[in-house]
Amino acid sequence: MATSTVQRQPAATNADPIPLKLVETQPAQRYHFNTHDELMAFDVAGHSWRETLAKSFQSDKDLAKVLHGVRPVEDDVYKVIAARITPYVAQLMDKNDPNCPIRIQYVPEQDEMHIAPHEMGDQLAEDDMMPEGTSLVHRYPNRVLFLVHNICGAYCRHCTRKRMVSDPLNVIDMARIRRSVEYLRDHPEVQDVLLSGGDPLLLTDSKLDEILSMIREARPDLKILRIGSRLLAQLPTRVTPELVDVLVKNRVTLINTQVNHPREITPLFIKHTTMLRRAGVMLGNQSVMIKGVNDDVEVMRDLVMDLVSNGIRPYYVYSMDPAPGNSKFMVSYDRMLEIYHGIRGWVSGPAIPTFIVDGIGGLGKMPVQPEYVKKTVQDGETKLIATNFEGRTADVSYLL
Ligand SMILES: *Cc1c(COP(=O)(O)O)cnc(C)c1O
Ligand code: SF4
Repeated sequence: MATSTVQRQPAATNADPIPLKLVETQPAQRYHFNTHDELMAFDVAGHSWRETLAKSFQSDKDLAKVLHGVRPVEDDVYKVIAARITPYVAQLMDKNDPNCPIRIQYVPEQDEMHIAPHEMGDQLAEDDMMPEGTSLVHRYPNRVLFLVHNICGAYCRHCTRKRMVSDPLNVIDMARIRRSVEYLRDHPEVQDVLLSGGDPLLLTDSKLDEILSMIREARPDLKILRIGSRLLAQLPTRVTPELVDVLVKNRVTLINTQVNHPREITPLFIKHTTMLRRAGVMLGNQSVMIKGVNDDVEVMRDLVMDLVSNGIRPYYVYSMDPAPGNSKFMVSYDRMLEIYHGIRGWVSGPAIPTFIVDGIGGLGKMPVQPEYVKKTVQDGETKLIATNFEGRTADVSYLL
C-alpha cells in the first residue's frame, strides 16, 4: 500500500523521477507574474511548452498577485497535492470571480483539508491490483492501466490519484517501468494498454518514445495503445510535430483528455488537438462531474457539443471520486441523472458520453444507466414501458 497522503512529506514539484529538460537546464528561470496584465500579455503560442511550464504558479501567494479574492492556505494543503497552474490555464481564469469554473478546478483552498471518513487514500484499490514491482493496475481481464509518471502539468484539486500524484516519495522509476513491460510480455491476454499517471505527455519526447517502443517491442500484437493526458487542455503547445511523430511511429491509437467546462475549448486547444487528429490519433474526453463547474444542463450540453464539433468524442463523465478533500466537489447521483436526462435527446447522439460511477474497492467502472425502457406490473400483468426524452411513454410489451 502507498503511504497515506495525509502523512507524507511536503511535495517537491520538481522531483521528477525521469528528469525533464525543464528541470535540468532551467532551474533559475522561474518567472513570476506580478500583475494580471503581465499574465495576460504572456504569449503562450510564442513560447515552447517547457518555457511556459517553467512559468507556472506554484502557490496561493503566486496566484494572489494576479487574481482577486485568492484565499490564503496553509502548507498542509500542499502535502495532499501540490499546486501548479500553467500560465495558459491562469489566463482562462476570471480575475475577479473565485467561483469561476477554471478557478474551482485549480486554485488550492483550505477546505480541501476537510477529509470525510469515506474519503480513503486509494479508494479505487489500485495499489492492491498492482502486480509486485510494476506500476500497472490490472483490474480488467484484457486491459491495463500503466502509470508512467506521477507529475502533472497542472494539479487538479479534485484529482482521484492524490495519494501518488506530485508525491516525491511515490516516484515511478525506469526499473518499475521495465518490470511493467516484462509483465506485459508475460501476459498476452492483455490487448489494450492505457498510459496514465500523472501525465505521460509531461515526459520528454525521447523518454516517451523509449517507453512506447519498449511496449510495442514486447507486444507487437497489442491491439490498442492509448494515453490519458490532461496536458492537452492545460498546455496545448505540448503537442508539437516532434511529439506527433513519436505517437505515429509507435502507433498510439487514442488519446483521452479531460475537459470539464466549455471555456477550456480555446482556439489554441483546437489548433493543437487538430494536429493529433490529422495524424490519425483518435481523441476522446473524460470529464469529471464537479460541483460549481459542470453540474448544470446548459454547461454540459455546450461542453459535449463543442467537443464533438472539434473532433473530440465525449467518452466518459465520471462521478466525483471520494479522494481526500473531494466532498466539496461532490455532485449527487440524482443530479447526475438529471443532467443525463437533460442532454440525452437534446444533443446529437455522438456527443453523448457514458456516465460512470468508478468502482469503489476496485470493482471497476460502472455505467449509470437511466431506465428509458422499464418493466412494470399493471393489474398482475408485466408490461414494458418506454419513456422518451420529453417524458412521453409508449407500451413496447411486444418485446417481452
Ligand atoms: C479506466 C481503467 C481502464 C480502462 O477502462 P475503459 O473502460 O476500457 O476505458 C483500465 N484499467 C483500469 C484500472 C482503469 O481504471
Ligand atoms: S491531470 Fe489527472 S492525474 Fe494530474 S492532477 Fe489532474 S486529475 Fe490528477
